[in-house]
Amino acid sequence: MKTMTCKQLGGPCGFALHGNTADEVIKAQDKHLNDIVATGDDTHESALKEMKGRWRRPVSGMTWYRKTKRDFAALPED
Ligand SMILES: [Zn+2]
Repeated sequence: MKTMTCKQLGGPCGFALHGNTADEVIKAQDKHLNDIVATGDDTHESALKEMKGRWRRPVSGMTWYRKTKRDFAALPED
């Protein structure tokens, strides 16, 4: 299990995301962004838009995805 923060994934806060793989952490961030924006938080809106844009633009999204996977791989286990 490793931990990344919302900030490390392009978001504005220090919310901790846990996962065994980078994909799990990315999914947790996706959920965090959706959940927090749904509560009326506007500081996460641009991060949510970027996240959604990544799925629509696979090429630029892939660069971010590869970087996130590298960052995740470099982290120590919890
Ligand atoms: Zn956050």
